[in-house]
Amino acid sequence: MKAYVFHGPGQSAWEDVPDPDIKDPTDAVVRVDTVTICGTDLHILKGDVPEVRPGTVLGHEAVGEVVEVGADVRTVRPGDRVLVSCVSACGRCRYCREAVYGQCLGGGGWILGHLVDGTQAEYVRVPFADLSVYALPAAVPSEDAVLLADIFPTAYEVGVLNGRVRPGDTVAVVGAGPIGLAVIAAAHLFAPERVIAVDVDPARLEAARRLGAEAVADAREAPEQLVADLTAGLGADVVVEAVGLPETFETCTRMVRPGGRVANVGVHGRPATLHLEDLWIKDVTITTGLVDTHSTPTLLKMAAAGRLPTSQLITHTFPLERMQEAYDVFGHAAETGALKVVLGGPQREVVPVPTA
Ligand SMILES: [Zn+2]
Ligand SMILES: [Zn+2]
Repeated sequence: MKAYVFHGPGQSAWEDVPDPDIKDPTDAVVRVDTVTICGTDLHILKGDVPEVRPGTVLGHEAVGEVVEVGADVRTVRPGDRVLVSCVSACGRCRYCREAVYGQCLGGGGWILGHLVDGTQAEYVRVPFADLSVYALPAAVPSEDAVLLADIFPTAYEVGVLNGRVRPGDTVAVVGAGPIGLAVIAAAHLFAPERVIAVDVDPARLEAARRLGAEAVADAREAPEQLVADLTAGLGADVVVEAVGLPETFETCTRMVRPGGRVANVGVHGRPATLHLEDLWIKDVTITTGLVDTHSTPTLLKMAAAGRLPTSQLITHTFPLERMQEAYDVFGHAAETGALKVVLGGPQREVVPVPTA
């Protein structure tokens, strides 16, 4: 089969690899129909995730059809159309028993496209299939469903639920990339008074408005001031960090009201300063975390009911074999305007790569 293989920092290719097969009785093999590229994949290609070994197939998000299951798999059968989640779960360890699958100690957690071969391929072996794939309602198209493999549960759990968004809240979202935009959409499920989006890219701020941000601010022009102006000087009830830079994290801690919550979603590579000289008196809660995907069944129901604006995040589609072009478009989002790129499916419109 063909797969997108990591060969070390800056080196990767869509190439021939052996077909996966069942290794453990809890495995399933899924024929990939639809797949997407995550910002984390770009981090891997840059060499920021050193535990990914050369030779690993990338990707941790997919929709496809189960073609084979191990003897112990009970929840899906060959022929089932499934969502392959970014997080796998052994189901037995102390964290899995609390539905904290992201911290699984039994060999699960984020493993696809990380510690084992991933989903950017024609076929993928999914370990612990019972708790790691989800049968899909027919009402949810594959390209919408694939956004429920990672970005929507991440935005919902690590942003909105960790931030404890409540009706009437002012929610500030710093970073209007795919995750930040999904946070904006998911925050609206809780009827906030307003959502304020902060970014440096006017196109992304426009997308934030379309997804329900009532106010937007340029990150370089004292966005704290807009938040203060809209909240009688108090600050936001909930601030979600969806960038992963020291400066944006520190901006979040300046935007939050006393007694408020800062939910960090961004993947950080450098230390940020925690300004306890300001925060010690403010009764602020700061949360961090990896997605657990315990919300996937809920989000699938919401998507089937048309309550998640998944398709608004998809800017580019490609056939599977044009993976490298899709990476080029996604990796140059500032020039291409890419939010989510989706690959696969039979009848997709092909978007040409802009020539710079
Ligand atoms: Zn991801
Ligand atoms: Zn576990």
